[in-house]
Amino acid sequence: MSIVTRHLFGPGPTNPYPEATEGLARPLLGHLDPAFIEIMDETCDRLRQAWGTSNARTLPLSATGSAGMEAAFVNTVHPGDVVVVAVNGLFGQRMCDVAARCGAEVVAVEHPWGSPVDPERVLAAHPSPAIVAAVHAETSTGVRSDIAALGEAVRSATDALLVVDAVTSIGGLELRADEWGIDVGYAGTQKCLGVAPGLAPFTIGERAFARRVERPQSWYLDLGLLGGYVGEAGAKAGGSGGRTYHHTAPVAMVSSLHAGLGRVLDEGLENVWARHAAAGAALQDGLEAMGLELFAEKGSRLPDLTTVRVPDGVDSAAVRRTLLERYDIEIGAGVGEFASSVWRIGLMGPNARPAAVRLILGALSEALD
Ligand code: PLP
Repeated sequence: MSIVTRHLFGPGPTNPYPEATEGLARPLLGHLDPAFIEIMDETCDRLRQAWGTSNARTLPLSATGSAGMEAAFVNTVHPGDVVVVAVNGLFGQRMCDVAARCGAEVVAVEHPWGSPVDPERVLAAHPSPAIVAAVHAETSTGVRSDIAALGEAVRSATDALLVVDAVTSIGGLELRADEWGIDVGYAGTQKCLGVAPGLAPFTIGERAFARRVERPQSWYLDLGLLGGYVGEAGAKAGGSGGRTYHHTAPVAMVSSLHAGLGRVLDEGLENVWARHAAAGAALQDGLEAMGLELFAEKGSRLPDLTTVRVPDGVDSAAVRRTLLERYDIEIGAGVGEFASSVWRIGLMGPNARPAAVRLILGALSEALD
């Protein structure tokens, strides 16, 4: 088969940073090789910076973002725990499903799709939840929620742990896990970090780790066991390179994430956030100038993922097909009841730049002509 190259302007994966691609192609190392252990250690350090945390337990889980979600709940939900989930899109709904499967009594606080999470409504849902959970950047609707405000509200009124989905925010939007009171956070590599899908950057603070389920139902995602995998046991024992075998680390993916994070941190997190903000604003202005209507509430629009209403009488799928076949551009359909009435356009990682904005605006206006 011939090799196809696309502009990945959908909800993810995005095109990777060249450094991340180069990281994939390095000579493969054994997963317990000291040279790889150094890469893993540095990757965890770089992830701490990307999360804005000093949590010792910050690591790339060996699976996609959904495994991060599973790990968050399977390690923290004790049978019958009340878990309040702020739902304003598909991924909030998924949190409810996952938490319920872990034995939680889930209280879903439904918000209109397209709106951000309202901390007051979340707080009012239950007097003493064990966990409050929310999605920072709802990829299904293109909405950013104010996690700093939610964290403050949760801390001031409850003893609950705060679980946050940062899959579509890490590496693209301001994210300050410690400052905002995030106890458990999970993310993905395939969005603003500009790395292929396959790992779930994960962080858990001391408070949440102390309350964890001792023997969670999942062996693979048991954070107690994974401490040894990233070297915690060895460090405690005063040894060096104290890896214990848990599972075979996806060496090439970790090397790629290491390189992608290096690229992001070299540019500087604040610069990367500003680049995403500028690209998103230019795209959103351009779409409105074309007469198109944006879906997400003004003031809460994600810079890296824009939702736009499909004009009346336009075949949503046909336009996406034209973009793909004529311009090698992928954009996303909507989700749920908005599947054919909304498009999702992502400008993430290396695609958050003016040339990409011009390309998608030009192609879309030709496709709509
Ligand atoms: N959470 C959010 C906000 C997402 O956008 C996604 C994927 O797009 C996920 C969770 C699930 O991640 P994955 O598809 O990598 O398993």
